[in-house]
Amino acid sequence: MYCPRTKTPLKKVNVGRVSVYVSEACGGVLLENQTLKNFECPSDKRGKALANHLSQFHNEVADLTQRVSCPVCSDTVMLRRFYSPLHAVEIDECPGCGAIWLDTGELEKLQSLMLSEKDRAILRHELMKEHERIEVKGLPHKHDNWHRRSDKVDALFDLASYITNGW
Ligand SMILES: [Zn+2]
Repeated sequence: MYCPRTKTPLKKVNVGRVSVYVSEACGGVLLENQTLKNFECPSDKRGKALANHLSQFHNEVADLTQRVSCPVCSDTVMLRRFYSPLHAVEIDECPGCGAIWLDTGELEKLQSLMLSEKDRAILRHELMKEHERIEVKGLPHKHDNWHRRSDKVDALFDLASYITNGW
């Protein structure tokens, strides 16, 4: 398989018992379907090990806005989507095989947004209070308020699922 940014061969690296595919040319990494969850927590040994490993290869990539093709499926263009409880990080995901491509530095960005158990407990509590407040407020009348309200509710649901299940 080849790096979708630099077209150089990806190097298979085993972290714990999980295989990932590293671009030593740009510091990007390919994670096969469902394997990102092993690395997103910075307090987890595997997450730390992979971030350390990738940090040796950090390199400027000419144009990060350019769409990448899936290194596994090759003819499938990966989709850009948000991945984080706060929607702050975008990642590339293959609609065919579910592989995820992280550009240089993106794993650290994801990890920096992960919360500790204590933070989760605090948020869970805040979320309950916030949810009650929205329930009793009733429906807003103005159209633009609808948008704001439903965005907020969506964000709360995302957060709730993150807090309850992790990723
Ligand atoms: Zn694919």
